Amino acid sequence: MPRILSGIKPTGRLHIGNYFGMMRPAIDWQNKGEALYFLADYHALTTVHDAAQLREATRRAALDFLACGLDPAKAVLFKQSDVPQVTELSWLLSVLTPMGLLERCHAYKDALAHGKAANHGLFAYPVLMAADILIYDSDIVPVGKDQKQHVEVTRDLAIKMNETFGKDLFRLPEPSILPDLATIPGLDGQKMSKSYNNTIELFLEEKALKKKIMGIITDSTPVETPKDPETSSIFGLYKLFASPDDVAKMEADFRNGGTGYGDFKKRLFAAIWDHFAPARARREEIERDPGYIDEVLRKGAARANELANVTLKRVRTAMGL
Ligand code: AMP
Repeated sequence: MPRILSGIKPTGRLHIGNYFGMMRPAIDWQNKGEALYFLADYHALTTVHDAAQLREATRRAALDFLACGLDPAKAVLFKQSDVPQVTELSWLLSVLTPMGLLERCHAYKDALAHGKAANHGLFAYPVLMAADILIYDSDIVPVGKDQKQHVEVTRDLAIKMNETFGKDLFRLPEPSILPDLATIPGLDGQKMSKSYNNTIELFLEEKALKKKIMGIITDSTPVETPKDPETSSIFGLYKLFASPDDVAKMEADFRNGGTGYGDFKKRLFAAIWDHFAPARARREEIERDPGYIDEVLRKGAARANELANVTLKRVRTAMGL
């Protein structure tokens, strides 16, 4: 039975890029092996420096994930910081991590390119991520395409450690990236990302969602003129939510002309709103039971600790501690 692992950073509200890129595939995987999913609060600390905000975002991420279908009877959900052993493993890995490997990692390179002052946490983040994956002896890591490089770094580090301290020290993980959902576009057509301010958050209020969708910037092509669906972020997003028939209809309406962007946006809003109706209902149900999330995270932490302790003991011994 494969061990499956993935994490999500509670830096703000989860969005539909997270949902299609990672949450939904992760939820599918929970039926295929032992799945462990964590709320990456240590990682979030590279950018969130407000305790109340981090706590709130972590709790909300747990709630959203459970509402979308994560089943605690099948998958282990826990907070990364409830297993502080990963920070020790991160150090142990870092002594074999070449600086050049981290300098090539895109999160750090992007921060520099955008003129942001990178902290050591952001620079070293792929090492902590490697520790997250390796400490649970993970086989499969369901992620969006932006994380592919970091899973490759994890494999590189595991190979180096195995060559240096014993060939069976770490299992080599494989990323699982669904080709059609590798990069979900945002409101502006670029990759959906909190840093680009182009996200559609999960579980927005109806009015707020409508405002976001109706606010998508479009060109000034007149209503009667044919339009290109392939370059439209409205169509790109609609494809994720609508049935094949409805997608074909919108595509034809784009190409034939006679339909304005306002109409396409209304269809997109309705498709998103309907898609999340069952998850919204589930979310309200969970919110009525105040102890539920704490209990799920407590049980999750217990299982994650069990697994982490076994790995860390093995690694400490192999390295001479
Ligand atoms: P993060 O919030 O950066 O921790 O991302 C959590 C997961 O969501 C990772 O597996 C990402 O690859 C995935 N993800 C985030 N944004 C997108 C996107 N626009 N398209 C596809 N996957 C995404």
